[in-house]
Amino acid sequence: MNGEYVIGVDIGATWLRVGLSDVSGNILRKEKREIRTNHSYEVSEQIIEIVDYLFEETGLEIADLRGIGVASAGPMNVNKGELVNPTNIPLEVVPLSEPLGQRFGVDVELINDGASAVLAEQKFGEGQGYDNLVYITISTGIGGGAIVDGNLLYGKNGNAAEVGHFTIDQAGELTCGCGRPGHWEAYCSGSNIPGFVRMHLVALTAYEGDSQLVKLNGEELEEFEAKDLFDLARAGDELAEELVDELGRLNAIGFAAVTEAYDPALITVGGAVALHNPGMVLDPIRAKIHHYTQNEIPLIKITQLEEEVVLYGAIARALAI
Ligand SMILES: [Zn+2]
Repeated sequence: MNGEYVIGVDIGATWLRVGLSDVSGNILRKEKREIRTNHSYEVSEQIIEIVDYLFEETGLEIADLRGIGVASAGPMNVNKGELVNPTNIPLEVVPLSEPLGQRFGVDVELINDGASAVLAEQKFGEGQGYDNLVYITISTGIGGGAIVDGNLLYGKNGNAAEVGHFTIDQAGELTCGCGRPGHWEAYCSGSNIPGFVRMHLVALTAYEGDSQLVKLNGEELEEFEAKDLFDLARAGDELAEELVDELGRLNAIGFAAVTEAYDPALITVGGAVALHNPGMVLDPIRAKIHHYTQNEIPLIKITQLEEEVVLYGAIARALAI
């Protein structure tokens, strides 16, 4: 394929990120805008607007575009080039390859956001030089991507390494967003940590210690967020510390299952919950993972690509077109 430049797109729940890169992977210009989802084609229309803007701003020729990589949470139909009931956007179908391909006359490839992130780690991040690595995001949800023996895992529908839906609790006390009980994400993701805290407070019959958590009234508990738990633990609240530690134990079970499944040498970790609380999230995992896996423990690191890891992966996918 000819062309000097590629475009990478990260479709998130709130943000649409688009990057313009040269074919060596140097990102020349990026733009982040709040995503609009009033109708099916609005996402592609907005991507077109931003691509036009990036070429205009850089003074480069749009005729020199080689290809476009688009990363999003699934589910997606990679062959049709569209998202189908995606978890991040309130639309049934989001056509991407057809409208973008028609407008720019280039190939458009879709990729699951977890797969995109691990690709980014290998090309641009901590995973350079690694053939066996996994990326895990602990964010609103929990997701992942895996490269095994140098091969990026896709699976029959592009949904390999949906690690957030590993069952970590057979009793299934909490129910996942996917509707099934006991999944990792139902306990440890940003949107589910408040439910995890409420479950523990209900079970707590007589607490003798001094904790802000037990003083929360009904309304405060309704509004309680994952961030509040970490803030309390950071301030030395004993019960909050205990719950953060228990979350760490559950995360260690998830990381152990990942280690058994993919035998990675490196696991990089991103997502808002991990990026904002790196020590409180990773330290208990590192301390406890050996209780749950027999495999050699991988290196576990926070991603250096931060919030842009998926965008970098979309660019890496476009570079492979
Ligand atoms: Zn689930």
